[in-house]
Amino acid sequence: MKPVCVLGNGQLGRMLRQAGEPLGVAVYPIGLDAEPESVPYQRSIITAEIERWPETALTRELSHHNAFINRDIFPLLADRLPQKQLLDTLGLATAPWKLLSAPDQWPYFFSELGDFIIVKRRTGGYDGRGQWRIRPGKEADLPAEIYGECIVEQGIPFSGEVSLVGARNSHGKSVFYPLTHNLHQEGILRTSVALPNTNPQLQRQAEEMLSSIMEHLNYIGVMAMECFIVGDDLLINELAPRVHNSGHWTQNGASISQFELHLRAILDLPIPQPEILSPSVMINLIGTEINPEWLSLPLVHLHWYGKEVRPMRKVGHLNLAHPEQDILKATLNSLMPLLPAEYQNGLEWAQNKLS
Ligand code: ATP
Ligand code: MG
Repeated sequence: MKPVCVLGNGQLGRMLRQAGEPLGVAVYPIGLDAEPESVPYQRSIITAEIERWPETALTRELSHHNAFINRDIFPLLADRLPQKQLLDTLGLATAPWKLLSAPDQWPYFFSELGDFIIVKRRTGGYDGRGQWRIRPGKEADLPAEIYGECIVEQGIPFSGEVSLVGARNSHGKSVFYPLTHNLHQEGILRTSVALPNTNPQLQRQAEEMLSSIMEHLNYIGVMAMECFIVGDDLLINELAPRVHNSGHWTQNGASISQFELHLRAILDLPIPQPEILSPSVMINLIGTEINPEWLSLPLVHLHWYGKEVRPMRKVGHLNLAHPEQDILKATLNSLMPLLPAEYQNGLEWAQNKLS
């Protein structure tokens, strides 16, 4: 089987490499400043764990390579402006938005979008970075340099957030995981819950939306779509042309993980519908030192990324899956004293989703 080169060497590349191992697929996550000669890219399929990259010797070489799957889709989705335009073109519901070009637009934005507006950098933001929440009067606090670099979005009073992770292959076949429920705090994903039996109406709506996007782009591999739930409907928040944090539960809760599914899709291997046999919970470890006590709980799967621990940095995650929700909830109870105070909300939220 062909090797796979992954542009980027963070945790997503690492987990793609881990998923390739049992399949006999050699996966090489590559730092952006690697010497092109040191990388077997000429004989590999190329993918990326990031959406946007600076120009380096390596990225210059790879960005012209024909084996770079979805090569021309990354620039389109990595910039919120063309991404939003794409959703509008396809007639898919998204938070109402405008391009932020000049400070004198603010009265117009407040009259069009209401009193709670989120400013988002077009490129480079993640985990809630590069965003400002603005109410009338607060717009003066924004740095002058962001005009032209951001969009504004209506603040959506959602009842919940979900994401759909799916994959498409070169023959146009698509498969999807059940919707994942996500809890974000300060713009960063803290906890996810996935249930084998989701609301069929929302699941269908989400699958139709993501299918039409992947079809339109002729996309190959795993894509994630983050949504807000408003009433009985979904609004698309954003798209990620890669494996996604809200799909990490699939490593231990699905017959095929999102990482393996991505490799299968880009290598043109079979992509049957993954089986999901039990509810799953994923807890992001954010700025927290490793605690071997987590391993005293038999349902806990620790995925530690081996990164230096810094505040607000994702350094690992815990996956739990069990067919009996009560047993999962009891494990979450046992985890409470083993995690710092800022995790308690997320653990209780997950328990409520399970009941
Ligand atoms: P990611 O790490 O997923 O790439 P991000 O930094 O790119 O995140 P978004 O997903 O756009 O940013 O926003 C992060 C979170 O902020 C969302 O999951 C949601 O909780 C909140 N948020 C974003 N946009 C809106 C909105 N228009 N209305 C209400 N809340 C929002
Ligand atoms: Mg997001």
